Amino acid sequence: MRTLVRRLGVRTLNALGAAVPPRYWKRALSLRVDLPYSITVDSTDECNLGCIHCVRENYAEEPGRKAKIMTFETFSRLSDVLPFVLNVNFDDRGEPLMNPDLLRMIRHVKLLSNGTTTTSFNSNLMLLTREKAEALVEAGLDSLQVSLDGGTAAVFEKIRLKARFEKVVENAQMLQEVKRAKGSKTPHLSLNFVAMKSNIETLPEAARIAVRIGAEYMGVNGTEAYTSLMKAEPLYRESGPDVPAPDVAPFYAEARRIASAAGMPFVPARMSPDRGAVCGEALNACAISWDGFVHPCTFLAHASDVHQFGGTYHRPQHHFGNIRETGLNEIWKSPRYRAYRLAMATGKDPDFCRDCLVKQGCICHGTERPDVSASLLRQGSPA
Ligand code: SF4
Ligand code: SF4
Repeated sequence: MRTLVRRLGVRTLNALGAAVPPRYWKRALSLRVDLPYSITVDSTDECNLGCIHCVRENYAEEPGRKAKIMTFETFSRLSDVLPFVLNVNFDDRGEPLMNPDLLRMIRHVKLLSNGTTTTSFNSNLMLLTREKAEALVEAGLDSLQVSLDGGTAAVFEKIRLKARFEKVVENAQMLQEVKRAKGSKTPHLSLNFVAMKSNIETLPEAARIAVRIGAEYMGVNGTEAYTSLMKAEPLYRESGPDVPAPDVAPFYAEARRIASAAGMPFVPARMSPDRGAVCGEALNACAISWDGFVHPCTFLAHASDVHQFGGTYHRPQHHFGNIRETGLNEIWKSPRYRAYRLAMATGKDPDFCRDCLVKQGCICHGTERPDVSASLLRQGSPA
């Protein structure tokens, strides 16, 4: 890869959208450089829950794009690129287990890529049955992240409305049993905790559960506020050191201690924005909505109003075409999309990306979507 970088130059690589994380470099050499390394497919916008922090209840977009399920027919428009991307992720702002074609889509990726393209999704796990767990293992799903935004039933169920704490934990354990019974290490199970004022005291309990269910790592994300009720919930701060505020630091420290004692990686999001960050999502990945539109990230797949640091900014829907009309390869290489990525790579972000706390590390812990573009750019930034 270093030779490739030397020969083509960082500017060219970024122009082609070819920057990929170091752990993928070997494989990336055999890839076409004109595709994202990772695709997020919005298998469905529908959800069985109504979490208080969820953007799906607070979309601010034009009428007509209501929650829907992606058809296999739409998904299959990606067939020519599936063998050449590194990962296909199946969640955006809905529950993937609600898509009746989910298993077929996972099998399709595996079949076309001869098993080499990995698959993943995040789930609230309420709809997992033994039968579905067995089918997911057999289909070859690589990673599953379970959302557990609370370490006790009382706290969890006030945030994840309509979910049942015990059921989620039981289903995670059941999935692990199914894997053991089938002699499979996959799907790798991880736990995600969206931290906020209402649940932070239960972070250590959630870490204990993550250890108990054998999670391979625990991620802690910040939350965005889409409603006035949520305005007081975020824990990150506008500036200052990237450490938890003193009133929440003990909960982070205890959760980290529990994870560390069990040898489980503990991966929290930043507590303070990284103002100089380059958006790895925009450079390395894209998000495809249930109806086929190609967006730079899942956050731009829907319009929303985000309240942060005493202000409100509007995040619009932003897309570059639709896979039902044009191949992803062509969309990714289109002058408009390339110009957008170059602007992002060189710090000329459009207004709606400028204050994004996802890019700045406070919302996503980033282990699933590592950002090597930033480091490549810092090695030799294009002007
Ligand atoms: S489970 Fe996920 S998609 Fe469903 S309401 Fe909760 S946060 Fe939103
Ligand atoms: S900066 Fe934020 S909104 Fe813009 S592409 Fe990156 S993740 Fe999406």
